[in-house]
Amino acid sequence: MKISVKLAALALTLTMAGCATHQSPTGRSQMLMHSEAEMAQLGQVSFEQLKQQEKVSRDPARIAYVNCIADRITGVLPAQQWEVVLFDSPQVNAFALPGGYIGVYTGMLNVAQNEDQLAAVMGHEVAHVLARHSNEKVSRSELTGTGLQILNIGLAAYGVESAGTITQLAALGTNVFFTLPYGREQETEADIMGVELMARAGFDPAASVDLWHNMAKASEGAPPEMLSTHPSHSTRINELTAQQQSAQQYYQAAKAMNWPTCSKQK
Ligand SMILES: [Zn+2]
Repeated sequence: MKISVKLAALALTLTMAGCATHQSPTGRSQMLMHSEAEMAQLGQVSFEQLKQQEKVSRDPARIAYVNCIADRITGVLPAQQWEVVLFDSPQVNAFALPGGYIGVYTGMLNVAQNEDQLAAVMGHEVAHVLARHSNEKVSRSELTGTGLQILNIGLAAYGVESAGTITQLAALGTNVFFTLPYGREQETEADIMGVELMARAGFDPAASVDLWHNMAKASEGAPPEMLSTHPSHSTRINELTAQQQSAQQYYQAAKAMNWPTCSKQK
């Protein structure tokens, strides 16, 4: 009885949402219930809200540093506009959102200690977007009925810019992007894709291993905020290490290109 009720609910949800099975970039099967446009809308509203809530950095040297790295990373992707903001906050955090938004907190610059390590962070974050992991997170949450009822609160009203809808979307975006953790398989996928991405942008992929060592070290005090949505797993560093040989091939090929130097300022 319980099962049939669940199935009926599932069927209803699927019908409503136009659910479809997709294949992720590394070949996993993904259940995605939302269009790219819906997720981009959610990303935009969340990013706008965050820019109002958080202090945005006015440090031109650091802004240039972060933008330099972001431009190289996104420059190896199919053309799309990416907005990059450096938030002036001690949080050890960074994120990328559907629709083309990248946020870095100044606290991250203490853990990602050079341009290659920060490129590892951004490559990982952008990979989450490319692999549509937020869509997958929210779709799973809806299918298991754990409370994120995206449909009920207004994405269907995409384009209707009433204040109430925007507020609800922003609250939903906070849940989806900044509270709900990524799954382990998503973390592995973002690592695999992110390391390739940074290497293709001319950053040394070996820095991805250094970055996660630094992140582990930083966890000995108060855990970095980034780890609340990106649960670390003990095999991550081993997997990243195993990936270095292939990543170095991308890096060596990319190094021959004429990249702008992104140097960290004091
Ligand atoms: Zn992650």
